Formats: sequence, structure tokens, C-alpha cells
Amino acid sequence: MKRRVAESLYNTLQSLQDYAFILLNPEGIIQTWNPGAEKIKGYTVKEAIGQSFQVFYSDKDLRRGRPAELLATAAREGTAKDVGWRKRKDGSLFWANVLISAIRDKDGNLDGFTKLTGDLSSHKIPADVADKVPVLLAYWDINLTCRYANKNYLDWVGKTSDEIVNKATLPGLLGSFYERNFLHIKAALEGQMQEFEMDLTRPSTGEKLKCMVNYYPDIEDGEVRGFIVQVADITHLKQLEEERLHRAKLEVKNVELENFAYIASHDLQEPLRTIANYIQIIKEDYGNELKDQLRNYIYYIEGATKRMQELVRVLLYYSRIGKDRKLTHCNCENIVTDVLSDMNELITSTHATIRHEKLPTLLGFETELRQLFQNLLSNAIKFRKPDLPPSIQISYQENKENYRFSISDNGIGIEKRHYQRIFQLFQRLHGQHKYDGHGIGLANCQKIAELHGGSMWVESEVGVGSTFYFTIKKFKPDDNEQQNQ
Ligand code: ADP
Repeated sequence: MKRRVAESLYNTLQSLQDYAFILLNPEGIIQTWNPGAEKIKGYTVKEAIGQSFQVFYSDKDLRRGRPAELLATAAREGTAKDVGWRKRKDGSLFWANVLISAIRDKDGNLDGFTKLTGDLSSHKIPADVADKVPVLLAYWDINLTCRYANKNYLDWVGKTSDEIVNKATLPGLLGSFYERNFLHIKAALEGQMQEFEMDLTRPSTGEKLKCMVNYYPDIEDGEVRGFIVQVADITHLKQLEEERLHRAKLEVKNVELENFAYIASHDLQEPLRTIANYIQIIKEDYGNELKDQLRNYIYYIEGATKRMQELVRVLLYYSRIGKDRKLTHCNCENIVTDVLSDMNELITSTHATIRHEKLPTLLGFETELRQLFQNLLSNAIKFRKPDLPPSIQISYQENKENYRFSISDNGIGIEKRHYQRIFQLFQRLHGQHKYDGHGIGLANCQKIAELHGGSMWVESEVGVGSTFYFTIKKFKPDDNEQQNQ
């Protein structure tokens, strides 16, 4: 019975078409050869039997002694498994899955081996892989006849494979393209790889694309057989590159401007201090002798000087935002509590109520974040309605990329047409006599949000209230190094 099963199993394996099933003697000499073996390895029965199974191995494997090693493992452990490159009769390689099993007689002596080999090449590389890559691929032989075109290429030229493969020539199919690229084609046919960018128009849609074109010469035994054309759409990459360059230029300009603002405001402080000092001296030394009119003039000069000193001070602050910065873990809950405690007098005197949900701890620039909350909260109180105590709500949401904070008030509100303007330096909607300030608070806030990789905006209704939003990017601890560069 056992013998019958073994025979039938042997016969089944022997008739396999997609597997090479062979018997080897203990030295690895081929004893049997099935149709699968012929199909996979290319040798006929006559050519194969009597040869060593080493003929299937690459030179590299032979040097490493791989065939003998596999037989030794099978002899020792009963089976040996391997996945690797194997050589066909014509020298081409295929990716094989191999199982070698030892055969022993009833006394346990080694009688030989069975060897089952599967060709995995088709599993490893699907036949239509070239149709799945988002590039145009084609092969033109030395006579510029098309030998292959992938699906994208066929779609591009609006032809079927039957219409062009082995039929179309490059000049015939692509006339003007051929002429424009003649020098590249010539170079590819001389064996030189070509890489160049080109603006192309997709024939089916008229869409303008920026493309990267590569010609890879196909060289065998030192002779050029043809070349592979690859065309990749890099429009998106180019746009990203342009945006990056634009951003880099803007950043340089911003740094220049900030440096200018810093130097100017820093240097203006000194002459202003001198003017203020001399006004003080005039007042102290000649105060009583001054005529009323002169006293008035000095009063105005003094007022203007103080305002200018204040403007220079805030400008200096603005230009310093983000200098010497270092990302730290900032507990926004604590920051807001501290800010509210600093504002205690204002809150009490205006009967303001300020509510906030539990705020997160995040990586940020603490001094600047404190300033941000301080500016927005004091504005929310400052721009209150005369007859209504301020009611302010601080909220936050987060997603994968950032935190979004909002500060809502029930104040006077802002007209839609001013939504952008209020964030510009020194822009105010009201005169100094009505609400004091310099028009720099929101410019500071916006700069701080941007420093945190975020942005800032407002939504408001006149007479109802305003909500200021800002986002903070979720930094990673190692962003510190990049920030400091
Ligand atoms: P400042 O408060 O010094 O005037 P800001 O830059 O902080 O400067 O604000 C610019 C302008 O935006 C203010 O003058 C005011 O008109 C408007 N604004 C800011 N916050 C509010 C708010 N919460 N409600 C109404 N208007 C506001």
C-alpha cells in the first residue's frame, strides 16, 4: 500500500508542468528529468541526465559552495530549503524556490535526493508591472522601431500596442518630438544615457506638463541594441520647488526687514533719550521763566517724544520676537492662569468673566505664547461694549498636525473689511483718544503664531463680539535644531 502511494506520488510529481522535479544521486548527479524541469530550466532530458545539478547555480553560488552546502544540509537534516537565483540553459537567471529532500534506504544509507524547484519570477515581478508605474515607458530598437510601450505610453500617443509595437518608428510616430530631441536620441544610440527636462502637452487633454525624460541605452556585448525611453510627469515637483524657492526668498527678505527694524529702533532710542533729557533740563532749569506759549510747545514736544519712544520700544520688541528662541514644553493652562493673575486689576475693575477649558501642554516658545494670550485677552477686555461687562471664552481643539485656540468676546466687534488690516503693523481702527494702544498687538500675535508654524485670523460681528483664532504646529523635540538654524 505504502509503496503504491509512493509510486503514485512520484508519478504526480514527475508529471508536474510548473515545477522541476528531479532525482539526484548522492553526489548530486541528475537521474530523472520531468517536463516541468525542461520548461523551467531549458535543458532536454538528454542534455540533463548525467549532469551535476551544479549547472543550475550562478558562478557566485558555485564559488561559495552553495550546491554542496544544500546537499549536506538535506543529508543531515532530511530537507534543505532555499530561495534564490538559478541559471537556465541559456544563461538567464530565474528566481527559484527549492526544496531538496534526502532519500534513504531501509538501513538509513543515503540513496540520493529529490529536488523540487518552482519558478517564482512571475510571482516576484507581475507581468504588467510596467503598466502600473505612473511613467511613460517605451523601447526603441537601433532602427528606431518600437519594440515595447507600456499602457501610459500607449494612452499618451492614443494607439494600441498592436498598432505600434514592431510597426511604428520614432520619427513616424512622434515627428516633431523626434526632431526636437534628435541630439538626445543620437547620443542614446551611441550608448550615452540622457536625462533632460521638457515641457510637454498631453495630446488627449491639452494639459501642459513639465516632464523629466530619460533615455537608457540598451547595450549588450558592447553593442547598442536600442534604448528605453522613460517620461515622468514632474509638474507637481516643479511647483513644490518653485514654492520652496519663493518661500526661501521671502524668508531672506523678512530677516533683512527685521534686522533693519531692529537696528533702526535700537539706534533711534539714543537720540530720543537725549531729546527727552534736554526737555527735562529745560523744564527744571527754566520752568518758571518760560512764557506760556513756549511752555505749551515744550509740552507738545514732550508728548510727541514719549509717544515716539514708546513706538520705538514696541517696534524693537516686534523685531526681537523669536530671536534666541528655544522650544520648551509649555503648559498653556499655567500660562493663561499667570496672565490672568497679572491682569487681575483690569479684570476686577471691568467685571470681566473669563472661562477656559483645560488647556494643553505643548512644545512652543513660552515667552512669546504668554505675550500672545496677554495681547488677545487684554484686547478682548479693552474693546468691550460700554454697557456690558466682558465675557470671554478660551477654547482649543487639536488634530494630527496642530492645536487651534480661540478667544471669543462679547465686545464691539470688527467689520469684515478690516479683518486683514488689523493684523498689520501700526493699524488701528479707533483713535488714540477712544482706546489707547499702538496698533502693534495683533501684528505681534500673528508673528508669534507664524513662529509656531501656525496662522491667525478673526471672525466677528459688529455689536456682537469677535473670535480670534490661532494655530500652533505640533512640534517634535528635535525641531529645535531646525528652528535654531
Ligand atoms: P491696539 O490694541 O494697540 O490698537 P492691536 O494690533 O492689538 O492694536 O489691534 C488692532 C486693532 O484691531 C485695534 O485697534 C482694534 O480696532 C481691533 N481689535 C483688536 N482686538 C479687538 C477685539 N477683541 N474686538 C474688537 N476690535 C479689536
